[in-house]
Amino acid sequence: MKSYEQERYTVENNQHITPAQYSSAEFEAAYTYSGADLGATWSAAKTCFRVWAPTAEAVKVNLYRGGTPGTEDLLESLPMTAAENGTWVAEKAGDLNGVYYTYSVTRRGETVEACDPYARTTGVNGLRAMVIDLASTNPAGWNDDGDPHYGLPITDAVIYELHVRDVSLDDNSGIHNKGKYLGLTERGTATPDGIPTGLDHIRNLGVTHLHLLPVYDYGSVDETRLDVPQFNWGYDPVNFNVPEGSYSTDPYRGAVRVAEFKLMVKALHDAGISVVMDVVYNHVYEAGDFCFNRIVPEYFSRSKDHVYSNGSGCGNDTASERSMVRKFIVDSVKYWADEYHIDGFRFDLVGLIDCETINAIVDAVHETHPNVIFYGEGWTMPTGLTKENVPLCTQLNAAQTPKFAFFSDTVRDALRGTVFVDNAPGFISGLAGQEAVLEKCFRGQPDWCPGPGQTVNYASCHDNMALFDRIVLSTPNATREDHIRMNNLAAAFCMTAQGVPFFQAGEEMLRSKPLPGGGFDENSYKSPDSVNAIKWADLSKEEYRQVLRYYQGLIAFRKAHPLLRQMDAEGVNATVTSVSGLAANVLAFRISGEAEPGKEIFIAFNANPTAAVVQLPVGTWNVYADAESAGDTVIGTAVGAIPVEPISAAILVKEEKRIETKPDGRQIALGALAAAAAGGILAAVLRRKK
Ligand code: CA
Repeated sequence: MKSYEQERYTVENNQHITPAQYSSAEFEAAYTYSGADLGATWSAAKTCFRVWAPTAEAVKVNLYRGGTPGTEDLLESLPMTAAENGTWVAEKAGDLNGVYYTYSVTRRGETVEACDPYARTTGVNGLRAMVIDLASTNPAGWNDDGDPHYGLPITDAVIYELHVRDVSLDDNSGIHNKGKYLGLTERGTATPDGIPTGLDHIRNLGVTHLHLLPVYDYGSVDETRLDVPQFNWGYDPVNFNVPEGSYSTDPYRGAVRVAEFKLMVKALHDAGISVVMDVVYNHVYEAGDFCFNRIVPEYFSRSKDHVYSNGSGCGNDTASERSMVRKFIVDSVKYWADEYHIDGFRFDLVGLIDCETINAIVDAVHETHPNVIFYGEGWTMPTGLTKENVPLCTQLNAAQTPKFAFFSDTVRDALRGTVFVDNAPGFISGLAGQEAVLEKCFRGQPDWCPGPGQTVNYASCHDNMALFDRIVLSTPNATREDHIRMNNLAAAFCMTAQGVPFFQAGEEMLRSKPLPGGGFDENSYKSPDSVNAIKWADLSKEEYRQVLRYYQGLIAFRKAHPLLRQMDAEGVNATVTSVSGLAANVLAFRISGEAEPGKEIFIAFNANPTAAVVQLPVGTWNVYADAESAGDTVIGTAVGAIPVEPISAAILVKEEKRIETKPDGRQIALGALAAAAAGGILAAVLRRKK
């Protein structure tokens, strides 16, 4: 870069820089800082501060004894020195671990105080940053802690989406640390009837990844008022690199939230569960108040003529295409992977973030953590980009971000009905004509999707109606038994389709969000715990436990069959054959290939209220799932054809020989036994003896 371009912007004339210039090549050439030392870098001997403030005329770092704004406990204000690429630096000798700080930035003739965008932790409500000796917060064994699913592709994941409060708030959870990170560290918790809850429940379910709704510091819950119940999903970021304080046992002391968050990750890893964070880089709580924008006005968020773009619907959109925003997001994700051992990231409204930023994140994280998985909401939304020709990370651009997966609203809507009408039916609830789209979804290749490694298949998440509520609303005249069959049919599809299965916590026990005045809550983002919390006592009823066992069984079957977990479209298309000539609202597939020598899987889905007889390829087939049960054990045998019960899935495997050890130690070859029993009868099905 020519030196005159560097010199155009100096501390003397930078008052004249306007937000309209932030995205120019000249500005980025002069003011892109690439070092790894932004924020407060602690050592026992000294702490170094560096903040990026290219439009400032003066910057100070204020050191405080405590983390609560309004408290008169200033220790010292240190002037900072202008340094390379628009950064400012200061250094303080001594051990500053536990000292709080802010920056005072003079720009546009006005001095504002701001938290550090690179804060590692903060005091209450995230307004003052804290210098921290991060190693001092590590739990025992942290250096040996890691992803229990290290090395496995994303299609091996089974993802369970949970809010920290929802798992523990119910009176019957048996969990001591209600609403806290520590609630997810408790083992042996149970309902009054002795049914496992919390971490034990999640572990027993067999999911591989626990996806937590926002756990970075957000603004909508007042951390000074934890004596009153407050609920929010937390899609309103304040400090991207700081754990949320309300989930800690003491939001006033900055080290506590860090230490307890790590204890949670460690406990989950020890239980064999990987951890995914929901990250919301696409917008912030209040753009004008966001610390980055206070330090460099309007830099972090897209604006035009000082009006913020609002594609997110949350008041502002992040200008990820700007070099120092991109760096901030890359640094932030990498920090969570490095410091907190996070194994996956779910990006909220990732369609507002540019592909280059997403690919930079994936590459940076995978350098040291090749196991980390990435997925997000790739909806197409209007936004006021500040550069030309910037592709955004949407479903439609999926080929440009090959290591990033997207929620498939295609399969969601085809299964349960369009998201835009609360009571619209889908395939499971009687909508005809969904076969073609679901055939593509079963192959992990809806129209927008290059292959199964990029589609997250789901029928419920925190947004919109819970699956069971949607089913009840869309089929008010169906029986409860049929409602449950619809629920389980959706689960069977998502759990056997190519791609990444995902579901909202509690779907496996018919989670519902009823409103006190009747009806169901379709947007419970700030609804009380009484609506949101998982109702553990439901598991006292056999009906709910049976659904839970069905999910456990589907997950176990998926885990046992690599043919269901393929990563690329070519492999799927060479191994998955669609069965033709079926009745309406029936789908069936044959799956066989080198991944499972000597085996063939046959899966049929019948959405009709009557049984559908589906012809089977020649041979004897072991049944692993029907309308009532599912698992990795044989529950019956079929030859010639199988009657797929009303509103249900049938999962079968033809295997040359399957040896099982009976409780008395006898080994039996099930294939041979079944063939003898079936005796060539056309549609013999040996039901399991109950
Ligand atoms: Ca907070």
